[in-house]
Amino acid sequence: MRLKLHHWILLGMVLGAAIGLPLRFFADQGRIDESWPATVAAYGKGVGDLFLRLLSMIIVPLILTSLISGVISTGQLKGLGRLGGRTMVYYLSTSIAAITIGVVMVNIIKPGQGADLTLLQATAQKEGHGRSVVGEAARTSFHTGCLYALGGHTDKAFEELERYLRLSEGREEAVEKIRQEGDLESLQSDPRYDALLASADQIRKDADEGKKQGLGETLWKQLFNLIPSNPFGSMADSTNRSILGVIFFSLLFGAFVIVVGGETGALMSKLFSGAFDVMMRMTMLIIKTAPVGVFGFMLYASAGKGFDVFRPLGWYMLTVFAGLAFHALVTLPLLLLLVARRSPWEFYKAMSPALLTAFSTASSNGTLPLTLSSVEERAGVSNRVSSFVLPLGATINMDGTALYEAVAVLFISQAYGMDLSFGQQVVIAFTALLASIGAAGIPHAGTVMMVIVLGAANLPLDAVGLILAVDRILDMCRTSVNVWSDSTACAVVARLEPSGGEAPG
Ligand code: ASP
Repeated sequence: MRLKLHHWILLGMVLGAAIGLPLRFFADQGRIDESWPATVAAYGKGVGDLFLRLLSMIIVPLILTSLISGVISTGQLKGLGRLGGRTMVYYLSTSIAAITIGVVMVNIIKPGQGADLTLLQATAQKEGHGRSVVGEAARTSFHTGCLYALGGHTDKAFEELERYLRLSEGREEAVEKIRQEGDLESLQSDPRYDALLASADQIRKDADEGKKQGLGETLWKQLFNLIPSNPFGSMADSTNRSILGVIFFSLLFGAFVIVVGGETGALMSKLFSGAFDVMMRMTMLIIKTAPVGVFGFMLYASAGKGFDVFRPLGWYMLTVFAGLAFHALVTLPLLLLLVARRSPWEFYKAMSPALLTAFSTASSNGTLPLTLSSVEERAGVSNRVSSFVLPLGATINMDGTALYEAVAVLFISQAYGMDLSFGQQVVIAFTALLASIGAAGIPHAGTVMMVIVLGAANLPLDAVGLILAVDRILDMCRTSVNVWSDSTACAVVARLEPSGGEAPG
C-alpha cells in the first residue's frame, strides 16, 4: 500500500513523540543527563523551523495570486459582498459558540478552585530541571518581559527586561551559572528574543511617551492595518504580520481588473491564474517535506519540557482540551452536516494534512499553504471561496484561541480566589473574542494577547507567567481547532453560494 501524505505526516508526528517522550522521561528520572533531551529538542526545532520558513516564503505570493485570480475568475463583482458578509457571520458565530463552550466548561470543571498558587508560581519559575534559581528567575523575567513588550505594556516590559539583564549579565557569577547550564543559550535561541531586540528601540520610545495600549487600540490598529500604507511594504514584511493589508489590496486589485475588463482584463486574468498555478505547484512540493518538519516539531514539543510542569495545571489543561474537543467534534461537524451537507469524517480526512501540520507547528499562518491546497485539491472547494475565506480566517478567525483566552482568564481569576459575576464573565468573553481577532496566526500569539484581556478584566498581568509552562501543547491544540474552523467555513460558505462553490472539473 502506498502511504498518502497525511499518513506520512502522522508517522513523522508519532516518530518524533516516540523519540522525544522516552528521552524526556529518562531525564526526569535522572537516568540520563538533562542535556540530552535539550539537545534533541533544539535540533528538532531547527528542522521544524526550516520547514516553517519554506512555508513562510510562499505565503504572500500564494495569497496574492490566489486571491486575485479567485476574484477575477468570478468575472463579476456581484456576490462578492455577499460572500464577505456570510464569511463574517460564520467567523463571529463560531467564535462566540467556542467561547460559550469554554465558559460553560470552566464553570462546570472549576479548574482554578483550590489550585495551589504557590505551586503554580513554583512551576512558572521552573520550566525544566536542574537549572539554577538565578537562571530560572532570569528566564521567567525574560519571558514575562517579552509578553509585556509584544502586548504593548511597555513600562512593565522594561521592568522585567531590566531585571533579566541584571540577573543574566550584570553579575558575573550569575552569568557563569547560566552559561554553565546552557540557560542563556536557550534564552537567546528563543524566537521571541530576536523580535524583542528588533523592537527594543520602539519600546523605549513608547515607554518614554508613557503610551499604553489597550484592547480598543489593538483592534483599531487591526482595522487600520487593513489598509496598507504601502502594499509592497506589507508584502515585504518578513514576519508575515501584515497579511490583512495584502488581502485588502489583492481584493481591490482583482475587483479593478474586472472593472477595467476587455483585453487588459483578459491579460491580467491569464497572468495571475498562471502565476497561481505556478505557486500551487511550488506549494505542493514544499508540502511534501511536511512529515520531516512535523517530526522536528514533535521532537521539540515532547523532549523539551519536563512532565511535572503539567501537574499543577492538570485541571486547567483538561478544561481547555475538553472545550476544544467539544467544539471540534460536535459544533463544527454539526455545521458541516447540517449546513454544508458534507460528511464530517470525509471532510476531516481531506483536511488532515493541514490539521496535523497546524498541530505540530502551532501556526495558522504557516499552515495556510497546506490549508489552501487541501481545501481545493482534496476537499473540492472552489478557489473563489477558499482564496477569500482562508487567508482572512487564518488572521482573524480563531475559535480555538478565543476559547482558550476565556478559559485561561477565568482559570486565573478562580486561582486568585476572585468570584466573578455573570456580567464580569460576559465582559471577559467579549474581550476574549476581540483578542482572538487581534491575535496573529503565529505560535503563542494568543498568550501575548491574553495580557490585554487580563488588563481589561483588571486581573494581575503577571498571571500569564503561571500558565506559560504548558502553553506550547495548548497552542498546538488550539491552532488545529483554528484551522479546522477556517476549513469548515469554506465548506459552509461554498454550500451557500449559488454555484455550490465546487471546484470546477
Ligand atoms: N498559534 C495560534 C495560531 O497560529 C494563535 C494562538 O496563539 O492562539 O492560530
